Amino acid sequence: MNISDEVLELLKEEIPKVEFNHYIKQLIFDEKDSKSDYIVYRVPNQFIANWVKNKYSSKIAHLFEVKTGIAVSIDILITKNSKKNSKKATIDNNIYVDNNSESYNISILNPSFTFENFIVGSSNQFAYTASKSIAENPGKRYNPLFIYGSVGLGKTHLAQAIGNLILEKRKLSVIYTTVEQFLNEFTRHLRNKTMDRFKEKYRKCGILIIDDIQFLSGKTETQEEIFHTFNELYNKKKQIVLTADKPLKYILGLEDRLKSRFESGLVANIDVPELETKIAIIKKKCELNGIHLDNNTINYIASIIESNIREIEGVITKLHAHSTLMGQKITETFTKNILKEQIMEKRENITIDYIIKIISKELNIKPSEIKSKSRKKEIVNARRIAIYIARNVTLNSMPVLAKAFNMKDHTSVSHTMKTINNNIKEDKEFEFKIKELTNKIINKID
Ligand code: ADP
Ligand code: MG
Repeated sequence: MNISDEVLELLKEEIPKVEFNHYIKQLIFDEKDSKSDYIVYRVPNQFIANWVKNKYSSKIAHLFEVKTGIAVSIDILITKNSKKNSKKATIDNNIYVDNNSESYNISILNPSFTFENFIVGSSNQFAYTASKSIAENPGKRYNPLFIYGSVGLGKTHLAQAIGNLILEKRKLSVIYTTVEQFLNEFTRHLRNKTMDRFKEKYRKCGILIIDDIQFLSGKTETQEEIFHTFNELYNKKKQIVLTADKPLKYILGLEDRLKSRFESGLVANIDVPELETKIAIIKKKCELNGIHLDNNTINYIASIIESNIREIEGVITKLHAHSTLMGQKITETFTKNILKEQIMEKRENITIDYIIKIISKELNIKPSEIKSKSRKKEIVNARRIAIYIARNVTLNSMPVLAKAFNMKDHTSVSHTMKTINNNIKEDKEFEFKIKELTNKIINKID
């Protein structure tokens, strides 16, 4: 076996089996075009190329470096003689690929996002049941379905599980799209004067899933188009599924006519998972990836990572990679060491200024105002929230925080912490807002 194949074998150990079998297996090392620090793999189509590039090229590069000691860059290119301009739309292994358009407009469903792989607990029970019922009776009962919840809690998983089931049971085409993809596709058809094809595609689909509609905020043109597409599909009793990271009323810059339509079916929230659900999810992910973790380690990971399941998955992969590469068993102590590093690294990257930047953007207040001594209500509120989050997610002491926010001394910081804690206890919406902001900051999404 040559090194390029050995690297893929190593990768196999680290990633879900189904992803390996679907995608990575298709990679063919291109000896001719590769150099010692530039590795080329060939794949049959652009879609697989993009997918592997986005998801795994840095990991492949890392494994190369581990194996050979040389830092390499990885390129995933299309096989030279493959027919790039195939005009056929194919439904292949649960992935609906529409390669009618020049840039391979793709609706991809992750084959492992199924209902069987979704762990149900009280935090997601309602969203799960609603999704299942919709997948079994698309377009009939609850239309549209709107799922909301914070980042990494399983919205995309559930939305795609609906798509996967509809694809499998009814062989209907599934359109899964993001706001950005939708706009790109629309403008391309407009430019190429092929709007009839665009309309045809949507008319024929069995279900339309639009993920992360919070990104519609402020995009009037896209909203206009989604409005028309929505009405058309809705009138034809086609199932529509939408997701967002917050309730509709908190999405600023979204037209009321869309909000009222999006809310007119079933609205389901996914909440932060309780400890038992997190533990069950970790067990499931280990089972799916063929990784063994003992109960102490599982409990430890579940207790350390507050909510984001994607982050939990990242930890499992990292642990597995470390233990494979270093030939060590994954024990609780091993986990603690690896996680300590990761948590410290992450916390060090989150600065007070970064927190202020995100909060000022989210609450529409200038960063300089947050640091000022202004007593205006909104400013005081934003400042308190910034301090509260900074205290919880950074390693700064109260005196340091007092200085950063131009406060008298640490007692003002401790007073702020008490105030916010009280507000959280009394006001569910406020609690949600704080959780959401904290998540944004921890996950560095801006
Ligand atoms: P979101 O779209 O809400 O940001 P995702 O649906 O992408 O989150 O979920 C992030 C990861 O966590 C995915 O890999 C998903 O499979 C996993 N996940 C989330 N919730 C669950 C659950 N209840 N059971 C199993 N896996 C889950
Ligand atoms: Mg998502």
